[in-house]
Amino acid sequence: MAIKERKTLQALRGMVDILPEEQGYWRYVREATVSVCEGYGYGQIDTPILEDYSLFSRGVGEVTDIVEKEMYTITDKGGDTIALRPEATAAVCRAYLEHGLHNKPQPVRLYSVGMPMFRYARPQAGRLRQFHQINVEAIGDADATIDAEVVALCWQLFRKLGLKGLSLQLNSIGDPKCRPGYVEALRSYYSQQEGRLCRECKSRLERNPLRLLDCKVPGCQPLIEGAPRSADYLCEECQAHFQALTRYLGLMEVPFTREHRLVRGLDYYTRTVFEVQTSEEGQQNALGGGGRYDGLIEELGGRPTPGVGFAVGMERVILNLKRQGIEPPASPGTRVFVAYVGQEAKAQAVGLVSRLVRSGVSAMLGPAGKSLKAQLRQAGSMGVPYVLILGDQELEKGVVVLRDMTRREQREVGLEEVIEQIR
Ligand code: AMP
Repeated sequence: MAIKERKTLQALRGMVDILPEEQGYWRYVREATVSVCEGYGYGQIDTPILEDYSLFSRGVGEVTDIVEKEMYTITDKGGDTIALRPEATAAVCRAYLEHGLHNKPQPVRLYSVGMPMFRYARPQAGRLRQFHQINVEAIGDADATIDAEVVALCWQLFRKLGLKGLSLQLNSIGDPKCRPGYVEALRSYYSQQEGRLCRECKSRLERNPLRLLDCKVPGCQPLIEGAPRSADYLCEECQAHFQALTRYLGLMEVPFTREHRLVRGLDYYTRTVFEVQTSEEGQQNALGGGGRYDGLIEELGGRPTPGVGFAVGMERVILNLKRQGIEPPASPGTRVFVAYVGQEAKAQAVGLVSRLVRSGVSAMLGPAGKSLKAQLRQAGSMGVPYVLILGDQELEKGVVVLRDMTRREQREVGLEEVIEQIR
């Protein structure tokens, strides 16, 4: 076990604190998510941060970057190999099986918001080691109406948040019946060009040819352009499913473009895949994405059960809200600042703050050992609308000075009536 001794302790690389000033954005995104998801009849679920390692090795796929290189894996004190959750879908499917949700009317519509995910990759703008996601899953229905519902929900979420200039890209990567033919075509196309491939693509060709289309290395782009397209290899059923999906999306007024290169990073996708992107260049321009995963539940030991869902990265959403100047509604902030001078006044002020808060008026006690002037300056910088001032004279008279900071007026009010006056 390596224990690092640092002079000043800091948060781990790629893991960040979310300070009070930032929380308005998080609340805004959370509330929009709850409103849109509940609007579509989805119920909230939270799953544990730690899961059995094999949930992800089986669910996400052994030969994915996430499991192979990025997963935080731990041996716990009982000797079990467990992992910090790198994504939500496998965990939600586990919960679906564990709680017998297949006995409920299908599909079971679930969402989560703000669950932390962990991936050990090189941190950069928009890429963290601990990040947070919105996840939506509809499990138990193979019909294209559900794909359309999930895609439309995703699009509606961005609309509700007010983000502009986004694009929705859609593709079908077939199913276990027709995909092998497509993968073979990719393999044979790329094998003929092996000399031109980047190192990573050479290994993809061996292990996971679909991912060749994911490559971001400039030199590989012309090869991707000329690569066989999944659309030309879909079986009749996959073709019909995709056509139905695009028709429903049209009826739902969801604008999309077909992107033949879109394959998505995880192993479990079948048929529908989609992604929402910003117009920025670069690797971190995907705000979210998802697709259909009809083989996943069986992989996890359940009966064959279809599913479709997506994940959106909350940090990336907030980054783009800021870029587009979209401000969350201001939080109401503290209403009353209680300043005091003298020991007895201090004790009374403590009681007064507590009474105010219990009556539903947000209040804060002035700092100890500061002059009245300094306390008022602090109240002014906080922008509170009211300050209450307590000193020996006020105590004797059983009053408190109520200062209206906006009107710059003050008057004495009986200690007993003050809460009513402020409320
Ligand atoms: P994925 O689960 O890889 O499909 O990712 C879904 C979404 O989660 C992405 O589109 C990003 O918005 C977000 N995301 C994925 N990985 C990270 C990361 N390392 N840091 C921040 N956001 C991420």
